[in-house]
Amino acid sequence: MFKKDFPIFDTPLIYLDSAASAQKPKMVVEALSDFYLKDYSNVHRGTCELANRATRMYESARKSVAEFIVADEKEIVFTKGATEAINMVATGYEQLLKPDDEVLVSISEHHANFVPWQQLCLKTGAKFCIFNMKEDGSWDLDDFKAKLNENTKIVAVSVMSNVLGIINPVKKLTDMAHQFGAKVLLDGAQSVAHIPTNVKDFGCDYFVFSGHKIYGPTGIGVLYGAMEALEVLPPYQFGGDMVKDVFIDKTTFADLPAKLEAGTPPIAEAIALQSALNYIQNIGWEEIQKNEKQVFDYLIQKLKNIHQIQFLGNPDIKTGLVSFNIKGIHPNDISMILAKQNVCVRVGHHCAMPIHQFWGVNASIRASLGLYNTTEDVDLFISALQKAIGFFK
Ligand code: PLP
Repeated sequence: MFKKDFPIFDTPLIYLDSAASAQKPKMVVEALSDFYLKDYSNVHRGTCELANRATRMYESARKSVAEFIVADEKEIVFTKGATEAINMVATGYEQLLKPDDEVLVSISEHHANFVPWQQLCLKTGAKFCIFNMKEDGSWDLDDFKAKLNENTKIVAVSVMSNVLGIINPVKKLTDMAHQFGAKVLLDGAQSVAHIPTNVKDFGCDYFVFSGHKIYGPTGIGVLYGAMEALEVLPPYQFGGDMVKDVFIDKTTFADLPAKLEAGTPPIAEAIALQSALNYIQNIGWEEIQKNEKQVFDYLIQKLKNIHQIQFLGNPDIKTGLVSFNIKGIHPNDISMILAKQNVCVRVGHHCAMPIHQFWGVNASIRASLGLYNTTEDVDLFISALQKAIGFFK
């Protein structure tokens, strides 16, 4: 239904890899090129009309992001992606954590929300704690409760796992963490394209996402922080735009969010991200979720008919993406044959090795949906998959 908005689908392509990066609607690409062709200037610096216009457009993008996740503009920091946003927070906590403190993450995190915390703990001497999931892939909240205590300073978890596709009960977890005074960072890199985001409802202190997974460009991401949570973060980088006054012997820093946006920001990317958010809002969440559920249910039903299939987690509690293996065949072998048939899926550990270790496998095949996918894509994918399986019989 929405494929017509995405020029890449003008030629045949079965794209089931939107969890890695989503395709771009024409209007997003046009927003990017229009800005460069008609409105380009640096921001926050110039006095001419062009510079003022670019600044207005960049700040209007910030406003749109704030509205999209139900936050205030001052709470939105543009980064180059979710990874940088998480690193910004983790690096900030280098100066705030003590050796007895603890950081708690789930076993199912993407490396971007795992390694920065692990490294932070190695640097500061704080304890890196991990809570488990159950066999069905849902979080083990008893284990979470057992690992949460008054030493826990940060809980960092994803709203939606990039391997399991399970929407996690983040509100519940955030409430529990706050009872112990811990700050909560939610990784929304996957969830933003599948469910509406309301950081106030989540109750989190930090929320991050990347533009490219939500039909926007690469090179732009967002760090949301509740004001007091952002205020404790020292500057991540030093340079232009993040200073108030610079003297030979000292520097004072700009107010938020500028304090955390050193140097020339990703201006065109922010403006194109705004266009992606407009695209989503024009369609509406109800329509997006209805269409996705229909295609996803169909995909799961078809996959269940393959008798050698081994799902990672319970397929009936997933949204938008599914990871699996075919018993007796290496996932790389399957993916090579799928690729020959013009089917794009992701194969490997999906930057989440600990979760694969939990199931005792090195890799899996992941099929993930975007709002453009149809049941016809599913049929073509399943027939390509059957062909690949048949090849190894
Ligand atoms: N978190 C999750 C759950 C992800 O799926 C990804 C990317 O796959 C990231 C974080 C990192 O996103 P990026 O590479 O855009 O910074």
